[in-house]
Amino acid sequence: MARLYPTVYFDGKLVPEKEANLSIASSAVLYGLSVYTVFHVAIHDKEYFAFRIADHYQRLVDSCKIIGMDTFAEKWSFDVFESAMKKLLEANAPEENVFVRASFHVDEKLPGTRSRGLNTVLSAFVYEAASIVPRDGVKLKTSVWRRTPDFSIPSRAKVNGAYVNSVLARQDAIDSGYDDCIFLDSSGHVAELSAANIFIVRNGKLITPGQNMDILEGINRRTVLELAADMGIVCEERPIDLTELYIADEVFVTGTSSFLSPVSVIDSRHIASDGITKKLQKAYDEALESRQSTYLTKL
Ligand code: PMP
Repeated sequence: MARLYPTVYFDGKLVPEKEANLSIASSAVLYGLSVYTVFHVAIHDKEYFAFRIADHYQRLVDSCKIIGMDTFAEKWSFDVFESAMKKLLEANAPEENVFVRASFHVDEKLPGTRSRGLNTVLSAFVYEAASIVPRDGVKLKTSVWRRTPDFSIPSRAKVNGAYVNSVLARQDAIDSGYDDCIFLDSSGHVAELSAANIFIVRNGKLITPGQNMDILEGINRRTVLELAADMGIVCEERPIDLTELYIADEVFVTGTSSFLSPVSVIDSRHIASDGITKKLQKAYDEALESRQSTYLTKL
């Protein structure tokens, strides 16, 4: 378990974690009606540098819009959100890099299965920036569970309730001795992991499933596409067959909680990851941590 810092943000206040409570009758608890994001904060000389915080906020806004949680925007503007995150970090004063998980919850009691016109609260907490996959080689198993399609529970929306899909698939992978799952979409093409996007390298080209292929629009995925373009690497966003993964020259995954990590095994087949993965990993680590990175906002 990652280490949780003691002070959290809840509905406009900084409180001890035990005092941040949602009702058992709230839509957040009953239907998983919350949207969330996790972003990385690099720490240099007691100053906090958040990675692509405006993009994380925008994805929360977009997720709320998809779900119909329409009351958050006036209450929780970007400025309010950003200053809440700053206060949260100052209250905990972490000395090592951390993740911040921020969520909007529908906290109305017993409104039934609907989303519009209901009150939302913002919660956020800080925890140690520990990767959820081994950073030196991830072992992946193709899941028997398929990624929820856009016409069912949209993967583009980062909604808490939708993560039952990820839990089913990842637990199955762990039970079989792997680190994480590979989700196929309903047509059998590669989608993503339980909480990360996937890339392959073939003949010097970087390939990843397109944003219309039942994936979360990963902010680290976008970052890697931008870094690769800057490095002159050709990038393609297109459907990938499972067997293309098996014969890829390299495979790696991206996500806030997985960083950029090479894949070493897929369904008992060995996968390499020297070359482009290493180069991108270096550029990615700098984007996340270096004071010079244009992706960072000082809070
Ligand atoms: N896919 C899923 C299902 C995820 O939960 C995540 C983690 N947020 C990602 C991909 C990667 O997204 P990001 O790069 O924005 O962390």
